[in-house]
Amino acid sequence: MIIQFEPDITQDQLTEVEDHLANLNYKSRLVKTQKGQYLIGIGKGAFDIREIGYQPGIKDIHIVSDDYKLVSRKWKVGATCIDLGDDAIIGGDELAIMAGPCSIEGEENIANTIKHLSENGIRYMRGGVFKPRSSPYSFRGMGIEGLKLWYELAKAAGIKIVTEVMQVSQIEEMYDYVDIYQVGARNTQNFNLLEELGKVDKAVMIKRGISGTIDELLYSAEYVFSGGNENLLLCERGIRTYEKASRNTLDLNAVPILKEKSHLPVIVDPSHGIGIRDYVPPMALAAVMAGADGIIYEAHQKPNEAFSDGAQTLDYSQSAKLTHKLRQSFKLVKSW
Ligand code: PEP
Ligand code: MN
Repeated sequence: MIIQFEPDITQDQLTEVEDHLANLNYKSRLVKTQKGQYLIGIGKGAFDIREIGYQPGIKDIHIVSDDYKLVSRKWKVGATCIDLGDDAIIGGDELAIMAGPCSIEGEENIANTIKHLSENGIRYMRGGVFKPRSSPYSFRGMGIEGLKLWYELAKAAGIKIVTEVMQVSQIEEMYDYVDIYQVGARNTQNFNLLEELGKVDKAVMIKRGISGTIDELLYSAEYVFSGGNENLLLCERGIRTYEKASRNTLDLNAVPILKEKSHLPVIVDPSHGIGIRDYVPPMALAAVMAGADGIIYEAHQKPNEAFSDGAQTLDYSQSAKLTHKLRQSFKLVKSW
């Protein structure tokens, strides 16, 4: 059960609702987000929701049978849009296209990418400055100095920054320079990190864990939401299966399932999902057909010279062609 409170509910009224739930043998947890106040009720007994719904200070009450509550579509039927300012809105009438190198490599790399994005009307730039690498000897990113440099150039071009945060201590130092904190597939179940991201007022995109189920991704999102931050995006990036012909198995089933289960926008990452450059565009287009609200992919001026993930990175001409087709496909889907 989710009880939504009016913004001006008094402490006495709130306590009365909590007591009411306790009498029904329901456990309750108060959630205060940047946008509203909710009481999550967990219990089994049947009761007439009007008993609670009519109490003063209550805006609405919803029965939510899912174990995750706030990210469920069972209480919030309309889609959530994430407004990043400057008309950059994700989850609405425009497909969010996020492109850029796997790793931020330096000033020239940033400038080249920004030029490419600007020429193609792409509003979001991806790139890692803190890189989770399987081998400790691989390039692990430029760190905070790289992010600051990136921010100066991106801000001047009106481009939003999507970048991975790997640990709690980085949240604050990155804060001024990011628009969307990305939680990587290796950190999807880092619950301390998720809880701390609940305290910030910037968007968070959570990638599905390498072996994570759809429900586990939703629980991870629930951590951030119940921690206070409703600005959430879900990202399907491929899961590990027995298949060896591709880097991962991009689970496009997840797109309509997530859209049905949750009100949050769904982004798809075909680069990590399939891991093979020439197959990224068809999978990106398939993701749009499946109902994705956005696509995030890797692009580089010279993919074969990229510091990381070159084999799955598009060159600028492939990227330009793809953005055009993505927009056409999205328009088609919206017209159905
Ligand atoms: C990335 O997008 O840079 C990345 C490391 O992705 P993932 O966490 O999905 O592996
Ligand atoms: Mn990568």
